[in-house]
Amino acid sequence: MFQKRLTRREFVRFSAAASAAILMTNCTNTQSDLNVLVIGAGMAGLAAARTLQESGATVTVLEGRDRVGGRVHTSHMWADAPMDLGASWIHGIRQNPITDLADQINAPRLETDYDDGILYGPDGGRLPDREWGKYELFEAQIEQALEQAAQLDMDISIEQAINQFLQPGNLSADEKMHLALVLNSALEQEWSGSISQLSAQNTPNDGTGYGGPDVIFPEGYSAIPEFLADGLNIRLNETVTKISHDAAGVTVTTQQGSYRADKAIITLPLGVLKKGLVEFEPPLPAEKRTVIDQMGVGVLNKVYLRFAEPFWNKRPEWFSKLSEERGEWSQWFNLYPYIQKPIILAFNAADFGTELETFSDEKIVADAMEVLRAMFSADAPEPESFQITRWIADPFAHGSYSFPAVGAPANARKILAQAVENRLFFAGEATNSDYPATVHGAYLSGTREAEKVLAL
Ligand SMILES: Cc1cc2nc3c(=O)[nH]c(=O)nc-3n(C[C@H](O)[C@H](O)[C@H](O)COP(=O)(O)OP(=O)(O)OC[C@H]3O[C@@H](n4cnc5c(N)ncnc54)[C@H](O)[C@@H]3O)c2cc1C
Repeated sequence: MFQKRLTRREFVRFSAAASAAILMTNCTNTQSDLNVLVIGAGMAGLAAARTLQESGATVTVLEGRDRVGGRVHTSHMWADAPMDLGASWIHGIRQNPITDLADQINAPRLETDYDDGILYGPDGGRLPDREWGKYELFEAQIEQALEQAAQLDMDISIEQAINQFLQPGNLSADEKMHLALVLNSALEQEWSGSISQLSAQNTPNDGTGYGGPDVIFPEGYSAIPEFLADGLNIRLNETVTKISHDAAGVTVTTQQGSYRADKAIITLPLGVLKKGLVEFEPPLPAEKRTVIDQMGVGVLNKVYLRFAEPFWNKRPEWFSKLSEERGEWSQWFNLYPYIQKPIILAFNAADFGTELETFSDEKIVADAMEVLRAMFSADAPEPESFQITRWIADPFAHGSYSFPAVGAPANARKILAQAVENRLFFAGEATNSDYPATVHGAYLSGTREAEKVLAL
């Protein structure tokens, strides 16, 4: 049960007032002898703050952005069609903690089906459904190659494992494109890292979701973090620059001032930690600094295109396209079946997702249209509007999510999650060994660290 409920409007007003707070704030509260600072108001930070507050602790959440949710973010640029720029899916609804939260607020959800797709050739021509057989064949062969790589004494990248055990040099040009499609959609889009960087030994092949179907939120995923944020003391526009700890407590410096508390739960994205944007005094232990360097953060970027009318098939949900360059405009999600709006979404990840960030909006839209025209209609009109993400350039994320990089130890996430002198605690998707790179993984990492603090 939540201790205190505020309406959404009250919450925004409350947060704004709090942001204007005085420079040196002592978070001690007479009602509780434990006060905790939570850095970041994404799913991990909100989960941690909620859990602590419900147990009577005094909690202040410091968030650099002007909103909560972090990498869960619904855009309302199109008033009649909220679009998720970060996470879209609950991956596996059964026993998933995000399902519980969504149930509590009756958030509408729609089931999707990754197998409901059409395959297109490199020139945009539609291929017969039996061509999916090649996809399945390569899925099985990749799995075998990774099993063989797991027996090696040293870790190698997935690309090296494919070259060694699958010998793509012997494949035809058509087979190479099918192999590239599987590598991109099943591994690079899933993990956001390039197969040249993903570890062959430590990349899980059984997914990071729960059982049951996947669902999206037609009215936007942000409803979940906004629900969690309700009633918490969240200070927006507080970019943390330094975290110091000593025998007596923790001092967190932001661009606005500084805060003092007994403990801090740090949910900074791995991309932000890698960049060294926040100074630690004393420095983090060497082992933790090493895994921060070794672990991977990649990118999954979205391009939403909106038209007056759909010129593509109203069904199915997915359009996959073979391409000579791996992962270039190869995955498209059709929103028409869900929201009956002529909107189509392209996913580009890893190497091409990174390169895309350097292109202008005009070039991105022109390139996307070239592919759509080849696939559906040479007469397809220009989009009425578009939305493009650039998660690497985002100063509060510096990437989409973490991945197991070749060379990082198998227990890297555990090391990242280790507390420092029972003062600093670490949560966030990258610290979750069971469900990394997901919303539920971030949420569970937040409750995990809050419980650790409460158990002391
Ligand atoms: C494009 C994309 C698609 C995805 N799709 C899915 C999906 O379909 N399903 C799924 O389960 N997961 C998906 N994910 C992953 C999921 O969104 C993340 O794993 C999860 O939201 C991470 O939560 P977090 O709390 O660990 O980090 P964040 O949400 O990033 O929270 C960290 C917070 O810290 C703040 N912060 C950063 N720096 C500072 C600073 N210096 N000072 C103060 N605050 C700071 C940030 O603004 C942010 O609010 C997707 C992610 C992306 C980017």
